[in-house]
Amino acid sequence: MGVSEPKALPLESSSDSTLGVYVSVPFCRAKCSFCNFASGVSSPAAIAAYVSTLCAEIDAASATAERLNAKLPHIVDTLYFGGGTPSLLEPTQLRSIFAALRRNFQITSDAEITLEAAPGQIADAVLAEAQLQGVNRISLGVQSFVDRECAAVGRSHTERDCIREILRLQAAGVADVGADLIAGLPYQTTASWQHSLDVTTSIGLAHLSVYMLEVDEDSRLGREVIAGDQRFHAHGVPADESSAEFYETACAWLPQHGFPQYEISNFAPTARRSRHNRKYWMRAPYIGFGLDAHSMLLRANGAVRFANPEELAQYAVQEFHPAPVDIAAREAFEETIFLGLRMNEGVSLSQLRRQFPCEFVAAMEVAAIELISDGLIIAEDGRLQLTLHGRLISNDVFTNLLMGIAA
Ligand code: SF4
Repeated sequence: MGVSEPKALPLESSSDSTLGVYVSVPFCRAKCSFCNFASGVSSPAAIAAYVSTLCAEIDAASATAERLNAKLPHIVDTLYFGGGTPSLLEPTQLRSIFAALRRNFQITSDAEITLEAAPGQIADAVLAEAQLQGVNRISLGVQSFVDRECAAVGRSHTERDCIREILRLQAAGVADVGADLIAGLPYQTTASWQHSLDVTTSIGLAHLSVYMLEVDEDSRLGREVIAGDQRFHAHGVPADESSAEFYETACAWLPQHGFPQYEISNFAPTARRSRHNRKYWMRAPYIGFGLDAHSMLLRANGAVRFANPEELAQYAVQEFHPAPVDIAAREAFEETIFLGLRMNEGVSLSQLRRQFPCEFVAAMEVAAIELISDGLIIAEDGRLQLTLHGRLISNDVFTNLLMGIAA
């Protein structure tokens, strides 16, 4: 199947002087059967306690960075509330988190500030508080515009609810309303997938993320599919080939309907692309607060990654002393390849040669020749990019590409 790939953008040098901030709010009204995130249902008291710990962690950010010998930029130009369902926070809790962030960082006036929400789970007062605090992007976990598919995975919203929610947020003046879809939900068919794509592209959304259902041991549905059992509608999960076809359809169809693909899972016109996620792909500095939040900060020489605990009980008692993982030249090279190739613009060979030892680049180029002949990557205008087929098996491509690099 052909795909019209967007023209490569110049790979600007990622800004090291500004920071991206991720805030994890790991609470949901119910646990979806496919979900493998560190999220769950908690009591109001547990959520209140979590918000206190979160604010204390934000207040400790400078000390944490100092202990890790890392540079912490204090100017924040992207802020992302993910989870979980951050829109379930009380307005006062949202206010407290923003107050903690503003005590410790300077959020720029044009910062991209995103809040994840589930359709029907963002109260008027929360929306008003979020907008007051500067939230200008809401990412709705729609997953499907087909009622049966949502019900099968334990999501309570219908197509009507989702459309109503999108129109409500747009009418309230949220600048960018985006949605997520999942290819491979139980009972999904070619026709039902096309229906979700049709609705998505006809209601003025700014941004679209398309994920393929992950079948792994970390979700109830995944375990059931692996075991070959029937609970959680596991028998309705389409075959891998069908899910791959749905994804390929999205990659071919969305760009023709106003949503150019710019990353393996993301589609949007240039002005609406996620600036926050770009920091991850470009290896620009970011810090994460809350459960299972990950961070990457730069050092005078190199970078350091660290992460918070995945278990709420552990996070509640932690003293903000995360274990650092040093990023040496080889790891930095690998990250540059596998994160950069996620983007349609790919990675620049001349930039790699400038930044990394020539033996790394030479070994990678040898592996690339074979992957090019297999139709998994292309080399164009001095850049390596994944093909559509390469995107479907991207992890294998990255492994092969990096295999020849000496440890
Ligand atoms: S998919 Fe989203 S809403 Fe569902 S349980 Fe996971 S984090 Fe919560």
